[in-house]
Amino acid sequence: MALPAANPLLDFPGLPHFDAVTPAHIAPAVDALLDGARATIDMIERDAGPPTWDSVVAPLMDRLDRLHRAWNAVRNLNAVVNTPALRDAYHANLPKITAFYTDLGQNDALYRKFLALQAAPEFATLSQAAQRMIDNEIRDFRLGGAELDAAKRARFKAVKEELAELGAEFDEHVLDTENAWAHFVDDASALAGIPADVVSQARAAAAAERKPGYKLTLRMPCYLPVMQYAENRALRETMHRGFATIASEVADNPAWDNGPLIDRIVELRGEVASLLGYRNFAEVSLVPKMAQTPAEVLAFLRDLARRARPFAERDYAELAAFARDELGLSDFAAWDLSYAAEKLKARRYAYSEQEIKQYLPEDKVVAGLFRLVETIYGITIREAQAAVWHPSVRFFQVRDGAGALTGEFFFDLYARECKQGGAWMDDAINRRRIDDAVQHPVAYMICNLSPPAEGKPATFTHDEVITLFHEFGHGLHQLLTRVEVPGVSGIQGVEWDAVELPSQFMENYCWEWDVLKDMTAYVGDGPLHGTPLPRTLFDRMLAAKNFQSGMALVRQIEFALFDMLLYADYDPVAHTPWASPQALLDAVRAEVSVVPRPAYDRFIHSFSHIFDGGYAAGYYSYKWAEVLSADAYSLFEAAGVLSPSVGARFLEEILARGGSRSAMESFVAFRGRPPQLDALLRHNGMTLAS
Ligand SMILES: [Zn+2]
Repeated sequence: MALPAANPLLDFPGLPHFDAVTPAHIAPAVDALLDGARATIDMIERDAGPPTWDSVVAPLMDRLDRLHRAWNAVRNLNAVVNTPALRDAYHANLPKITAFYTDLGQNDALYRKFLALQAAPEFATLSQAAQRMIDNEIRDFRLGGAELDAAKRARFKAVKEELAELGAEFDEHVLDTENAWAHFVDDASALAGIPADVVSQARAAAAAERKPGYKLTLRMPCYLPVMQYAENRALRETMHRGFATIASEVADNPAWDNGPLIDRIVELRGEVASLLGYRNFAEVSLVPKMAQTPAEVLAFLRDLARRARPFAERDYAELAAFARDELGLSDFAAWDLSYAAEKLKARRYAYSEQEIKQYLPEDKVVAGLFRLVETIYGITIREAQAAVWHPSVRFFQVRDGAGALTGEFFFDLYARECKQGGAWMDDAINRRRIDDAVQHPVAYMICNLSPPAEGKPATFTHDEVITLFHEFGHGLHQLLTRVEVPGVSGIQGVEWDAVELPSQFMENYCWEWDVLKDMTAYVGDGPLHGTPLPRTLFDRMLAAKNFQSGMALVRQIEFALFDMLLYADYDPVAHTPWASPQALLDAVRAEVSVVPRPAYDRFIHSFSHIFDGGYAAGYYSYKWAEVLSADAYSLFEAAGVLSPSVGARFLEEILARGGSRSAMESFVAFRGRPPQLDALLRHNGMTLAS
């Protein structure tokens, strides 16, 4: 091993040295960390004494923490600066990491030590957090195959490794298609209707390749406004087709077809389930979640669908009639949806997303977000210096009311090339006690928001502001934890279907006048420059908040039902009871959707959440957690949404607790009763008619 001390990935305990890490550092660091972890595991296994927290858990967690931090730094880089060299290094090391965790999950000797610890008198003396952490570990050993015989264990491991590779390949096909796909337009007249800042970015994108005209891409800050505003219907159709066929056999480059990967991933997950003694992968997925059975989730989704569908049908009928009568679109199609919706919204509520965007410059938005959480939780946030991976990335520190450092975070907000799409929060460092000191948590907060255009400050759409608030909610869950036990601090150990509670909770504030008004300043020229958003404009936005909320809700239910049925009932070998995943999607659409889609639509080919991300048989979690977040927010609505006392309680009972107790216990401790559906329906403009 060449000079591990000189390897920036092995320099603990500080922040990751993003300015110094190169792809060449990755393999030696991973090898050194894996060797160290294996040596510690050997030592624990050989220890003949009775297993205790100090002899088993503490040394194991210490090693795993280092490995997790280094690998998460690599994983973060792979997602945000996806260069070919980095991607190669990531792939070369991913199998080693996967194999290590699979071996760990199956380690019979360790499993028995944890079982013995759980049964020992010491267990009762441990904190609730430590007890829960041990219970979780034992559950995860079972789910990791620790109770299997040697032959099944080997097969289980091979399946896990193949799944990890297939997941990475799935995402790359999506990213490669997005990177390769471009539509060049020579003449600005073909871009009529598209906002000026989007047009100027398209011109800059073409110029960067020394080409004339305008380059349009499938990245959100370009794709969405084209679909919403382009008068040119053929252009919308071209873009829609590009987007709807990403990573499919009908895309421009069928080499990146995710179709075969989907069947294989479902098949392998089915094999995981049968090895572990479950009927299907959906059952496995639900073991560590709040929801108990696939049937319970399906009933929840179908109940929501039943309540939402009449609203969705009304939304769609209105939109189609408007498109026909006012826009002359008698053959109303999927590529007209956003365009017609934007026109109808502008007609009915007399404003446009782009008008609002002119009032939401980045500096005001970020300052307003920080002021909000400082008010509610009594914390302070200040910018600080740290090594970053791109010049546009910023770094901040969070301090509590007494001025003590509680956490730090990276902000990487703009969309750019070679950065995976979407928005997410990931942990860089987790909070835990190490002897007399506490290691404070650090988070990555990554978005793909509109970048600054040609020397002007970045301005965000209201939807983008909502995304930012959402990810920041995850970040606060990670950063404001008071748990000192590894594995259950921050977002660790939180049931997956409750993990969206703090994030979706934050979205509500984007609709509060007292919060939003101070986040606005008009950026255009003229007498309005610098003025805040007018109340009248906000009132129109608010009136439009639930515009088409029925359609949006059934769309989410469509994804969630597809996901749950795919992993509960679909057999990818016999192709029953549906001939293919696409046939299942068609059946789900027939059940809940109100919008016709073209035959070439291959949405599921880019549905990374459930094929690479952790949402397999878990996509329902968004709606499940929204019941919790809406109901939690209703207590703020009753007391005043900026109430520091309710904020302190939310911090104490939910954010600070992390995974140290069940999400239901945390919710009831905050709300004083179990969750109810009313607030979710009210927030979506749906009354409790049943
Ligand atoms: Zn989220």
